[in-house]
Amino acid sequence: MAHKVTLIPGDGIGPEVTRATVRILEATGVKIDWEMVNAGASAYEKTGEYIPKELIESIERTGLGLKGPITTPIGGGFASINVALRRKFELYANFRPIKSLPSLPTRFPDVDLVIVRENTEGEYSGIEHEVVPGVVEALKIITEKASTRIARFAFEYARREKRAKISAIHKANIMKMSDGLFLRCCRDIAKEYPEIPYAEHIIDNTCMQLVMNPYQYDTLVMENLYGDIISDLCAAFVGGLGLVPGANLGDGCAIFEAVHGSAPDIAGKDMANPTALLQSAVLMLRHLREVEAADRIYAALEKTYKEKKHNTRDVGGTSGTTEFADAIIENMEAVAVVS
Ligand code: ATP
Repeated sequence: MAHKVTLIPGDGIGPEVTRATVRILEATGVKIDWEMVNAGASAYEKTGEYIPKELIESIERTGLGLKGPITTPIGGGFASINVALRRKFELYANFRPIKSLPSLPTRFPDVDLVIVRENTEGEYSGIEHEVVPGVVEALKIITEKASTRIARFAFEYARREKRAKISAIHKANIMKMSDGLFLRCCRDIAKEYPEIPYAEHIIDNTCMQLVMNPYQYDTLVMENLYGDIISDLCAAFVGGLGLVPGANLGDGCAIFEAVHGSAPDIAGKDMANPTALLQSAVLMLRHLREVEAADRIYAALEKTYKEKKHNTRDVGGTSGTTEFADAIIENMEAVAVVS
């Protein structure tokens, strides 16, 4: 039976990387029944809504989404569309594996980090107001419920995947109450997983330590904004934002999307690297237990980077999005024959 998946192409480079990813997924032979409904700026132009009702209904039906990046207007009155979707479907865990592709040389080889980012609150609560002219107050919300839930997610993942350790990243020396509560929740949960080494690190030092030696970390759990920033930093270890996948996970619903944004500077030019969304789709296939197809795409990705002939510009090549996708599809046939 075909899997039902809501497809949200997004804005900027979204439609290009989505098209490439869908072509590759279809070439695996896995049957997917796509329900395509857009959100964001392009949806607004057509429907007058940033998050059309049809999109909500579709995700409610499928419980599964593959999503391109969506532009959030800066300043202005509209809160983030991504954040709104994550909240609406209670996708409380943002899971971002940062794993080197062995065939793509980078400054640090064999990086294997996992970022678990709280996805529903923190500075992203979007509660800001002007107290008096010239003074604005923004509320960072940290709750015991969300902190415990994300800590539990990280430890469960670490236990299942036999990860080496968990580091909780914070700034509790300054934000004593909010980050203090986050840490207390992590500590409490850590006690239930005595076999997993647990440590706490301050965010600013963590950034320096990561750049000096990323191998000293393994799985990092943190609140929303820190996760956003650390994800971009860690993307650099494996070749940049064009590579890193992500999953927004809740109970009974999941939306897979790349870490990068809509990259308006290169939109519409067939220049974007579709690897990040493709790797997100590989995570989705694993979630759907389509392991063979996931492995085949990953092997073709490896082979394509090893050949170095079809790399996109962000990783030192000259190829376009379409040519890169064509090479992956061709290599999928090659790796299928070999295996
Ligand atoms: P946001 O704040 O919306 O999450 P961001 O900070 O992740 O966005 P992006 O718009 O994703 O920023 O990208 C920053 C830069 O990285 C872009 O200007 C672009 O040059 C590059 N980039 C991002 N994604 C890709 C990609 N898939 N392929 C090639 N280059 C990319």
